[in-house]
Amino acid sequence: MQVAVIGGGIIGVSSAYFLAEAGHEVVVIERHGNVAEQASFGNGGLIAPGAVTHWSCARAPRSFIASMFKAAAPLRLRPGLRTERWQWLRRWLAESTLERFCIHLERMQRVAYYSHHVLQQVQERHGFSFEQTRGFLQLYGDAQALLQAQPLLDLLNEHERPHQLIDAAAARLIEPALMPSTPLVGALYLPHDEAGNCALFTKQLKHEAQRMGVTFHFNTAVQAIQTDGMHIALDIDERRFHADAVVLAAGVDSARLLAGLGMRLPLQPVIAYAATATIRNFDAAPLAALGDTGSKVIIARLGDRMRMSAMAEPGAAHMQMPDMAFGALLQVAGEWFPDASNYNKAQFWSATRNLLPDGAPLIGATPVPHVYVNMAHGAHSWAMAAGSGKIIADLISGRTPEIDMDGLGLSRVC
Ligand SMILES: Cc1cc2nc3c(=O)[nH]c(=O)nc-3n(C[C@H](O)[C@H](O)[C@H](O)COP(=O)(O)OP(=O)(O)OC[C@H]3O[C@@H](n4cnc5c(N)ncnc54)[C@H](O)[C@@H]3O)c2cc1C
Repeated sequence: MQVAVIGGGIIGVSSAYFLAEAGHEVVVIERHGNVAEQASFGNGGLIAPGAVTHWSCARAPRSFIASMFKAAAPLRLRPGLRTERWQWLRRWLAESTLERFCIHLERMQRVAYYSHHVLQQVQERHGFSFEQTRGFLQLYGDAQALLQAQPLLDLLNEHERPHQLIDAAAARLIEPALMPSTPLVGALYLPHDEAGNCALFTKQLKHEAQRMGVTFHFNTAVQAIQTDGMHIALDIDERRFHADAVVLAAGVDSARLLAGLGMRLPLQPVIAYAATATIRNFDAAPLAALGDTGSKVIIARLGDRMRMSAMAEPGAAHMQMPDMAFGALLQVAGEWFPDASNYNKAQFWSATRNLLPDGAPLIGATPVPHVYVNMAHGAHSWAMAAGSGKIIADLISGRTPEIDMDGLGLSRVC
């Protein structure tokens, strides 16, 4: 089949790679001049399936919601949101009971663990090097944070996933440069989880995809998807591009293209922020990736740089509150690893991704024949990309995916 993939982010390029591997003729259509120019460009780098989670206020609803309105909260809401955002938040709250939280967590981790396995296969096959580090340390600053981790620990135990609940002293041995003053009562150590440079990996994968025959059309934007039920056509400027099937992997813009086909999904654009600082003192820098559940800041070592990321703001217009958001990132980095870098020279970046109220991705066929989606991976697209790409290629090729697809398709939202 000739398959058109809309979007050259990590999700689109992974889809194209596996579609080509399955023997299809693949074209990627990307409006920017290269791959990984949008949300895949400067992300937090975490490929940590054991740390993939659904935001939830199930265990502390009142304090959680109150904290959302604070200036430097990890999940921030500003007053005056539009009606559809409040509707989305209502649905998100409904998905935040402990029972629903556990269901979503299992679905998201199912994709992420599979994806990590597929990513490692790809990496071994091609010998990619993308500034990877091994191991993720989830810090718990107080007893309450440790208590709230219980559903996650139960899931990791149930599925026998490699993890260790360790005390503060053991955590400090894993990250010896972590400031002794950092509040710490314990940590979850995920020894096989990773961090790596998503944009670098995407470019290497693009190169391999091109070698396998995938064609990339850059600086080309799809205006609309047309269908007569039998055939697919993409409107591109004055032209029409015909394909047997299309995979929508357009990140945050997927919603608009789906709306043109009559599908209105409860997607919410959520902006997130990252800062990158060059390491000047390697003895004082983190060795791998770590985060804490309070601030929700993640710090990942990427080569000779540190990447700090956090803060999610549903529906925010781009770059509306960077000083406060970036200040919060640098504050945590400065407290944990004060001598690692000149943080005042850090570079800032932000991007938007789409999120469904239940947090799980959408991978699979749509009600419109020959139109497939690979989208809404929220804060974990990099962690879920390789597996999602393989799954979409399997589905389009008429093969059964290697994991159970229950709860990952469009039927749960439309
Ligand atoms: C600050 C931050 C930190 C993050 N940290 C992590 C992390 O640590 N771990 C993790 O797993 N995930 C993380 N994420 C999430 C992840 O990086 C992104 O969600 C992911 O890269 C999205 O990939 P994508 O391919 O779906 O979208 P994108 O990378 O945005 O790609 C979509 C592409 O589609 C193109 N496009 C859109 N519309 C059209 C059109 N009409 N025609 C042609 N092309 C079109 C766009 O130009 C774009 O290049 C983070 C995100 C942010 C913002």
